[in-house]
Amino acid sequence: MIFVMKKDATDKEIQDVIELIQKYGLKPHLSKGEERTIIGAIGDESKIRNLPFESFPGIENAVPILKPYKLVSRDFQKEDTIIDVEGISIGGKNIVVVAGPCAVENREILFETAREVKEGGARFLRGGAYKPRTSPYTFQGLGEEGLKLLYEAKMEFGLPVITELMDPRDTDLLCKYADIIQIGARNMQNFRLLLEVGKIDKPVILKRGLSSTINELLMAAEYIASEGNKKIILCERGIRTFETATRNTLDLSAIPLIKKLSHLPVFVDPSHGTGHWDLVAPMSLSAIACGADGLMIEVHPQPDKALSDGSQSLKPKKFADLMKKIREIAKLVDRSCE
Ligand code: PEP
Ligand code: MN
Repeated sequence: MIFVMKKDATDKEIQDVIELIQKYGLKPHLSKGEERTIIGAIGDESKIRNLPFESFPGIENAVPILKPYKLVSRDFQKEDTIIDVEGISIGGKNIVVVAGPCAVENREILFETAREVKEGGARFLRGGAYKPRTSPYTFQGLGEEGLKLLYEAKMEFGLPVITELMDPRDTDLLCKYADIIQIGARNMQNFRLLLEVGKIDKPVILKRGLSSTINELLMAAEYIASEGNKKIILCERGIRTFETATRNTLDLSAIPLIKKLSHLPVFVDPSHGTGHWDLVAPMSLSAIACGADGLMIEVHPQPDKALSDGSQSLKPKKFADLMKKIREIAKLVDRSCE
C-alpha cells in the first residue's frame, strides 16, 4: 500500500502514519519528494486494507500496489532512480559505460586495460576477483589480491570499480575496495546474499539470472530494497534459450519493459549476452537505442591470452571505436555519453 500524503501534511501526521504501519506489523518506507511525501507500507497488505484511511489527517490517498514487487516498482516511485557514485550519476540522461577485463589477472594487464578504457571513455572499471566459474579447475580469481589491484587502479586512473560478491562472508572486504558490488547471474536468486547487500550502503548491480524471468529479476531486486538499500542497478546479460550459436540470447526487449515496470536504472552486458566479441558492438548500440542507462563491456589487451572470457572481450582499440559510435546513438535518443 502507498500512502500519498497531502501537500501540507505535518511531520506529526507523517509520523502517525509510520506508527500505524508499524502497529500492524508492516514496514514503512518513507520517500520525501519535492512535491509531496509518499509512505510505502510493505508487508501483508490484508492487515491494513480495510482501515478508514480517509479519516486520517494528512493522508490524501491510499493506493494498493498490485505488483508483487513493491519498492522497486514504478507504482511506488514515478521518477527514475538516479544513483550517484563518486560524482558520477547513474540512471540520468548521461549513459555510463563500465569496462575492463572479465577477471583481474595481474597488475600489468589490469593497469593497461584501465588506462586504455579510461582513454576510450569508460567511467567505471570492472574486473572479477572472485570468479563464478563452471569448472572448479579453471582460474577462480585472485581474491583479496585482486581487490587490492582494482583499488590501486582506481587510484591511478580515477575509475571507480565494480566487482562481484559471491559469498556473504566477503561483504565487508569487498565494500572496503569496491564502489559498486556486483551480484552475478548465478547468484540472482541467492536470497541470503541479496538480503546481505540490502543492508550495505553501496550501490549494487544485479545481473539477470541465466533462466530468470523479468518478474523474478524484479523480485530479486525487491529483496535488496526491502532491507533498505535502494541503490540498485539492474543488468540484462542474456538468458538461456534453445539457441546455441550465441552464449546467451540477449533480451533487448527487457530494457524498455523493465523501465516501464521499475524506476531502477537498467544496464546491458553485451559481452556475456552474446559470447562473441564481434557481436558486442552491434548489441551495445542497439541497447542504447532501446533505452539502456549503461553498458558493461569486457575489454582485454590480449583476448587470446585471457584467463577467462577472451572470446567475448574487445581489444582496447575496438572499445574506443565503439565508444565513438555509442556517443552518436546516444544523441539520437536524446542522451549523452560523457
Ligand atoms: C561477470 O560479469 O563477470 C559475470 C560472471 O557475468 P554473469 O554473472 O552475467 O555471468
Ligand atoms: Mn566474464
